[in-house]
Amino acid sequence: MSKKNIAAVDVNGKNVFIRVDFNVPIEDGKISDDRRIRAALPTIQSVISRGGRAILASHLGRPEGKGFEAEYSLEPVAKRLGELLHKPVGFPGNDCIGDTAAAAVNAMKNGEVILLENVRFHKAEKKGDPAFAEKLAHGADVYVNDAFGTCHRAEASMVAVPKSLGSKPKVVGFLVEKEIKYLAGAISKPTKPFVVVLGGAKVSDKMACIDNLLPKADAIIVGGAMAYTFLKALGKNVGKSRVEEDRIADAKKTIDLAAKLKADLLLPVDHVCGTEFNESGGDIEVFDENIKDGFMGLDIGPKTQTKFALTIMRAKTVVWNGPMGVFEFKPFAVGTREIAKAMVEATKKGATTIVGGGDSAAAVEDMGLSDGFSHVSTGGGASLEMLEGNKFESVELLDNA
Ligand code: AMP
Repeated sequence: MSKKNIAAVDVNGKNVFIRVDFNVPIEDGKISDDRRIRAALPTIQSVISRGGRAILASHLGRPEGKGFEAEYSLEPVAKRLGELLHKPVGFPGNDCIGDTAAAAVNAMKNGEVILLENVRFHKAEKKGDPAFAEKLAHGADVYVNDAFGTCHRAEASMVAVPKSLGSKPKVVGFLVEKEIKYLAGAISKPTKPFVVVLGGAKVSDKMACIDNLLPKADAIIVGGAMAYTFLKALGKNVGKSRVEEDRIADAKKTIDLAAKLKADLLLPVDHVCGTEFNESGGDIEVFDENIKDGFMGLDIGPKTQTKFALTIMRAKTVVWNGPMGVFEFKPFAVGTREIAKAMVEATKKGATTIVGGGDSAAAVEDMGLSDGFSHVSTGGGASLEMLEGNKFESVELLDNA
């Protein structure tokens, strides 16, 4: 069931509480990637251009929940948002609730924007506390969920705040609507062939996703460190590659399930290996199937790059989550780049291509390739949970279209 969008709500003269996800990387007070702020602009602009008063709330990082910590302040984000909107953004004090914040909300005029301080300065946010939510809502007339990166969390600003609004409108913003359209669309009605590409460090994080998608996908490509747990399950020598020993049995079951369903579970056939886990990699060698003792697999090898790329370029729907190697170290970034390039080619040939958030989205952004995909998600954990087939309470409770 699709959810009602903010565009369908008369917001003129109303206080509109917008939960955004402005959890952006900040180094020395500077925002190094403002993608999540830019992604929320259509919703904010829609509200203020129609005379609504936009009260924005977000978390940033993982503060302790014991009050203000300068390191996690959203103040630099308010400044950046003001630049992007070309108008001042109010930033009332160092607490998202309390007299100062309430006074700032009461003084707002139509078309104005304020950003409340980090909601996670209160432990009550993570606990989903209704009493805290009541105060945080600041008597809002409308609730908007545009925080895709946080949709998988039942925190106060995501669930208890909209519940506190009773029968008043509770809707999705443009970003959440777009994210759900692409991710849910890929899973429920993918144009075939449907190929899923998974990588990254932990196989345990992605096992549920593989099991959910195996019946739907024509091929599941597995790279990154997670491939080594599968290869060990198949009896290959993986040297000192990262393996989750307690998941080898699950990996075997998944391999058997893929065979039963006649789905292709594609694993690397060669590996770029190093002797040390650092920028140089120590001695670097490429091995076919079996990795020599003393070496660890740090990227997919050239034969694998070609094999994976060909499968991707034949697909009509591709979803990707997780890098193919330790892309942070230059010698091991090639596999991830080649996969990204193959997806860009597939997009050009008419495929729908989706990059789950997190590291793969950051890698694609770094390579300057993000415009070559149909959709680059702003939510790593949230997009993975969608691929696992999970439903989000924060979205389910919103008004239907
Ligand atoms: P994840 O958060 O699970 O998507 O994992 C992302 C991380 O996986 C990145 O920091 C990569 O450096 C890491 N990674 C990818 N391939 C490997 C590998 N072969 N060995 C160790 N770490 C890897």
